[in-house]
Amino acid sequence: MNAPASQAPARAPLRSLDEVLADLLGRASLLEGTQEVSTFDADGRVLSRDLVSPLQVPPQDNSAMDGYAVRAADLAQGRPLPVSQRIAAGAAGDTLTPGTVARIFTGAPVPPGADAVVMQEDAQVTDGGGVQFNSVPAPGQHIRRSGEDVTRGAVVLPRGRRLDAAALGMAASIGLATLPVARRPRVALFSTGDELVLPGDVPPDQMKPGAIYNSNRFFLRTLLLRLGCEVTDLGVVPDRLEATVDALRGASQGHDLIVTSGGVSVGEEDHVKPAVQALGTLELWQLAIKPGKPFAYGRVGAAHFIGLPGNPVSSFVTFLLLVRPFILKLQGATDLAARAVPVRADFTWAKADKRREFLRVRRNATGGLDLFANQSSGVLTSMVWGDGLVDTAPGRVIAPGDMVPFISLAELLA
Ligand code: AMP
Ligand code: MG
Repeated sequence: MNAPASQAPARAPLRSLDEVLADLLGRASLLEGTQEVSTFDADGRVLSRDLVSPLQVPPQDNSAMDGYAVRAADLAQGRPLPVSQRIAAGAAGDTLTPGTVARIFTGAPVPPGADAVVMQEDAQVTDGGGVQFNSVPAPGQHIRRSGEDVTRGAVVLPRGRRLDAAALGMAASIGLATLPVARRPRVALFSTGDELVLPGDVPPDQMKPGAIYNSNRFFLRTLLLRLGCEVTDLGVVPDRLEATVDALRGASQGHDLIVTSGGVSVGEEDHVKPAVQALGTLELWQLAIKPGKPFAYGRVGAAHFIGLPGNPVSSFVTFLLLVRPFILKLQGATDLAARAVPVRADFTWAKADKRREFLRVRRNATGGLDLFANQSSGVLTSMVWGDGLVDTAPGRVIAPGDMVPFISLAELLA
């Protein structure tokens, strides 16, 4: 609800997303304390040190094929050559006797003296037990070189890298059973709104007029967990100033960050703003984006405070664009920006807006983008249906065939 015009506070100028993001990231200083966690459990965590390889990967030159390790020059005569040894993966061969070949399998070390591998499909075992080759290989053929993946001393993963499946595999390949990571941010989460009901508390057919289910709690909690946070879920705080003050005071103990949804507009039922001001400092930023205008940042005691809008899509999108990079930066992550790539629009957008707009879209089978019909900030279906956002500049209209900046939700939800 908005206050009557006569009582409305002087309207703060809308601030650009880039400006607010830069401001926010400037305040997100690295959390003190790091942890050593099992490589098995490190998915999604942020490295607190460079990982330097103590060895070459692969450790030795090895065969890329099942076949024969040979001295290429020995094949020039075109005569069958005897097999002097057999080297399977996990074994180490002896120096190759001149004029002979070694039976070798994929991944097995190439024996000293051999300079090429011939795949078994290009060789025939003769009746005499020798091996006949069809052609002379180029030196180095089918040999994977020691260190061609990683050289000893190389930084394989830098500090600030967020770990994912590929990174964990790489860390394991240089022998690391544990990894140094930033500690998990401790986050307190609560929703405001007397209309909110927890699913399960009241069945749908018994909901009172005006009541709605609390959806923000579920996606915000999920998003926080995926970003490596320890979440204290404080549920719903009633729309009363004292209750909001109490909740914030409690949450500021033992948490790095308090995230709330709703109650950050300037209506009479919006108590988050005065509550934060009563306990600490507040900056209310009216963001020039759609969805998601109201957004608050402040401090309560030692904790950061972020107030998200109540409208579900606004809450979701502002989380992805602002809170996600903030939380990653607390952990020292370096890759924070949402990457936009140009993709063809297969829709019309004629409603140019003064605010930068993030339209919910979905990639279609021909590589273009379809637009969700209802772009209202309350329609969560758009986030379920969509697989991305089109970053639409203020005043821009879009015609079919235009290339538009597309941000994949999969990337932001990872
Ligand atoms: P507010 O920012 O508190 O004024 O809320 C704006 C709109 O979002 C209102 O229609 C609220 O009912 C709705 N809303 C607020 N919080 C939630 C929530 N946690 N889940 C679903 N809808 C919400
Ligand atoms: Mg409210």
